[in-house]
Amino acid sequence: MNNLNHEIRRYFQQQLELYPENVFLADKKPKAEKKSMEKENILEDLYSRIGDCTSCALAEKCNQKVPGHGKTDTRLMLIGEAPGREEDKQGLPFVGKSGKLLDKILAAIELKREQIYISNIVKCRPPENRNPRQEEIQKCIGFLQEEIEVVDPDIIVALGLTASRNLLNSDSSLKQLRQEDHTYQGKILIPTYHPSALLQNPSYKRPTWEDFKKVKKLYFGE
Ligand code: SF4
Repeated sequence: MNNLNHEIRRYFQQQLELYPENVFLADKKPKAEKKSMEKENILEDLYSRIGDCTSCALAEKCNQKVPGHGKTDTRLMLIGEAPGREEDKQGLPFVGKSGKLLDKILAAIELKREQIYISNIVKCRPPENRNPRQEEIQKCIGFLQEEIEVVDPDIIVALGLTASRNLLNSDSSLKQLRQEDHTYQGKILIPTYHPSALLQNPSYKRPTWEDFKKVKKLYFGE
C-alpha cells in the first residue's frame, strides 16, 4: 500500500515536471476531499515510520504495529492505552471485546466508528497486556502527537487512566480528572474510563455515560 502510494505520488510529480500546464486534476477535487487526501498521505508516511520504529523494547515482542485508524476529517478522536491481543493480531485499534463495547457506547450517542478516529498512547502491544512503561510512552507519544496534529479534531476523549494521565501530565485519579476541564494541543480533552475497565467493573458505566453525553453535546453542538 505504501509502495503504491509512493508510486502514485512519484508519477504525479513526474507529470507535473514534464507537463506543468496539463496537470490540473488535483485542483478539480472538492476542497474537503483534497484536504482529507492530504491528511491521508501525511498519515501514510507516519504509519510507515511507526512500522519501522524500534525505539523501545516493545517492538521486539509485538506481532505488528497498531497505528491509529479511522476518519481523518472528523471532530472526534478517541485515545486508548495500547493494543491488546486482538489488536496485535489484526493491526487495528479497539477490535477486541473492548472495541465491541466502545462501538455500543458510540451507538448510544448516535455515532459510528467510521465517523471518528481512534488511536493509542503506544503503538505496540506490551507483553501479557501489562501497562506500558513510562519510558515506552515517552518514546512513542510523539507519533500520537503527530496524529492529533494531522487529524486536527475538536474533541479528544482519553480512554482510561494511562491515556488521561499521560496526555494531561498529571498523576491525579481519573475521578479527579473527570471533574476538571482540560485541553490538549488546543483541543477539548475529556478523560473517561477505558471500556476494558467497564467490562471488569460495571459501576463505571454510569460515569462513562455521563462523559459521553458531554461528548455528544460537543460533537453535535447541542
Ligand atoms: S511502542 Fe512506539 S516507540 Fe515503542 S517500538 Fe512501538 S512504535 Fe516504537
